[in-house]
Amino acid sequence: MFSRILIANRGEIAVRIIRAARELGIETVAVYSTADKESAHVRLADQAICIGSPAPADSYLNIPRIISAAEVANVDAIHPGYGFLAENAHFAEVCRSCRIEFIGPSVESMKLLGDKVACKQLAIRNKVPTAPGSKGSVSDEDQALKVARDIGYPVIIKAAAGGGGRGMRVAHNDISLRAGMLQAMAEAEGAFGDATIYIEKFLEKARHVEVQVLGDQHGNLVHLFERDCTMQRRHQKLIEETPCPVLDEDHRQELCKAAVRLAKAAGYFSAGTVEFLMDAQQRFYLMEVNTRVQVEHPVTELLTGVDIVKTQILVAAGEKLPFGQGDIMWDGHAIEVRINAVDPENHFAPCPGRIELFDPPGGPGVRVDTHSYSGYKVPPNYDSMIAKLIAHQPTRQQAIATLRRALAEFRVSPIKTTIPLHAELMRNGSFLANDVDIHFVERLLENKSS
Ligand code: ADP
Repeated sequence: MFSRILIANRGEIAVRIIRAARELGIETVAVYSTADKESAHVRLADQAICIGSPAPADSYLNIPRIISAAEVANVDAIHPGYGFLAENAHFAEVCRSCRIEFIGPSVESMKLLGDKVACKQLAIRNKVPTAPGSKGSVSDEDQALKVARDIGYPVIIKAAAGGGGRGMRVAHNDISLRAGMLQAMAEAEGAFGDATIYIEKFLEKARHVEVQVLGDQHGNLVHLFERDCTMQRRHQKLIEETPCPVLDEDHRQELCKAAVRLAKAAGYFSAGTVEFLMDAQQRFYLMEVNTRVQVEHPVTELLTGVDIVKTQILVAAGEKLPFGQGDIMWDGHAIEVRINAVDPENHFAPCPGRIELFDPPGGPGVRVDTHSYSGYKVPPNYDSMIAKLIAHQPTRQQAIATLRRALAEFRVSPIKTTIPLHAELMRNGSFLANDVDIHFVERLLENKSS
């Protein structure tokens, strides 16, 4: 087992990893940028090393500085969290060539699954359903127009290297396809240094349903059931829950087995997420595989009782999964809401700055994952998420009641947050009745502002 690990991340996920490591008896080393000197992850770790200035390229994305910190601190392994370098196969390769274990899957499976075009082709070979679309990447306009006419508009143009909703454009006709293709390519080139794009049918009334998988380096791999992340804004998740409230048992089995099939075909180990879109008939189509721990992992932890972060660490150290598929049970219903420092009344404009009062809720059925506290200054340089509030109760209705109560208790001032928006969504008739799709929140917000 490892005796010391470095966490190459910040914010709530760094805190989450430090807690998991400490409970396993592993020492932790935090890294931080000058903007994060006051962050809770710096205080909670056994040791903290400043790696540079606030710009991510100078700190959390700077591989040489992170490796130097790891060497100075003499760590056995690095946990990358999510975002930043978590899905960077080159970083995983550098870690391992420096004899530092990368807490994640193999470089080969990261490369294979991280390329969405290659991933889709692997899915097709393994009879995992995918949305109709281009066979591989699309490089010129004529080819794009032909694919779009074959599958029918609307279509979505997506970046092969995509992530965080970047490099995506929806096209409803030839004209918007031409324009969208150029924009998507430019955005993908800028964000990922790779302009490769592909096209698929744009599913209008879909739900986002994803399957958590967890594997070890001895060929064992299980699923931890699904999460529903249909409540999104601009392809960014706002609310995540498990189980998916509209999925019947036969389709659940089919979906989870497909996810396991794909992960096994990629020789996957560690924690991963296989993301699908699901239509009203519960037909599902693969979107992508995320080769890391997800923001929304806590709902699965509460539902199944499996500690995903600890298991990631154990399997990275070469241990076998301590359970088989038959041991994984689920109980009740869990829902997470993301609390971001943005103003929902003003186009979700970021609201960085000092939090004078941070008073999170507690009580039965409530979990709060956060790095924030009273006096904490939210830096303007990073993702705006300041906390995750998660409720776990025997039924969905009870989990929603707990979230309503917890959101009413949650006091954050003076900065604006998504707390009032979540309080409203927890009373929204369509959300309560499960009558939503991935565009629901955007339609709701548009109607409010018009
Ligand atoms: P990223 O890696 O950038 O997050 P994803 O492939 O996971 O990209 O897609 C993010 C979101 O984009 C999905 O949750 C969904 O809302 C939307 N999306 C992606 N593909 C489609 C599609 N074929 N039809 C409709 N919406 C889609």
